[in-house]
Amino acid sequence: MRSDGDSWSIVDSVGLTALGVATFRALESSEPDALIRDDFASWFVAAAGEHHFTELLADSSSLQGIPFAGFMGVRTKFFDDFFLSAAASGVRQAVILAAGLDARAYRLDWPPDTTVFEIDQPKVLEFKGKVLAEHEARPKADRRPVAVDLRDDWPAALEAAGFDPTKPVAWSAEGLLPFLPGTAHDALFSRIDELSPPGSRVAIDSFTDSSTLQRFSAMPDKFFGTNPFGDLDVSELFYADERADPPGWLSEHGWSVQGATSLELADKYDRPFPELPEEFDDLSKRLAWVTAVK
Ligand code: SAM
Repeated sequence: MRSDGDSWSIVDSVGLTALGVATFRALESSEPDALIRDDFASWFVAAAGEHHFTELLADSSSLQGIPFAGFMGVRTKFFDDFFLSAAASGVRQAVILAAGLDARAYRLDWPPDTTVFEIDQPKVLEFKGKVLAEHEARPKADRRPVAVDLRDDWPAALEAAGFDPTKPVAWSAEGLLPFLPGTAHDALFSRIDELSPPGSRVAIDSFTDSSTLQRFSAMPDKFFGTNPFGDLDVSELFYADERADPPGWLSEHGWSVQGATSLELADKYDRPFPELPEEFDDLSKRLAWVTAVK
């Protein structure tokens, strides 16, 4: 259940979802044919000491055959490739919206002079910073955490942290949109547009309507008897109110938009697409993986 201005740590409410996806990245990283390598993710899981995800990392057999968790490698690679391609085209500012425990500032080979801004709630970034400092991790870019709520005036906080709105930027919103109320969701895209000079890029995972996501997040429990997030019902944290359709909105505002379905993405990365129950067939065919260039 959500409320205006609610906040969280890494072990409760929306914060716990960041720990969850970090766990799935750690699990993917330990696979022999891993699509991505995130050696930082397991540090966060160990430091948080949260019961369910600590156990899952030690023994992930309960996830066997569940389509959800295995797709995290594909999702991570999609955003990794997006940032590397933006960097190759000369973009030197990256903004990771709702960064959670994303370690791209440490994992990716950014060109020199790249600044990576990470926006998330204060307690999430504080936990992350503490764990990274304990491990003496060194970022591969100029990393700037920006502790602010994305329902508030985050552009002011971003600019105060050194963001330059006259220079092209690559934005990511990964695993974020359904956690925002419609007004903050729509404001997010207006603000991205205002802060993006030509040459800027954005990548999102967009299932557009929250009811679809609610159906999707209920799937593992309903069909496989397991919730990868333990006792947390992620769908209760989503907002289901009206909001703009991001790809359509971006197109209307002069961005050149490309979308891929989950099936296409799995194919691109040579991963077999997981077998979904029939009623979820539509999900695999949605243009959920969106990139756009201004
Ligand atoms: N993008 C990260 C990843 O994929 O690993 C984290 C995704 S996690 C599912 C959702 C993240 O959104 C959490 O880190 C949470 O703190 C952040 N978030 C959600 N709503 C937010 C808000 N209003 N302000 C700041 N951060 C928010």
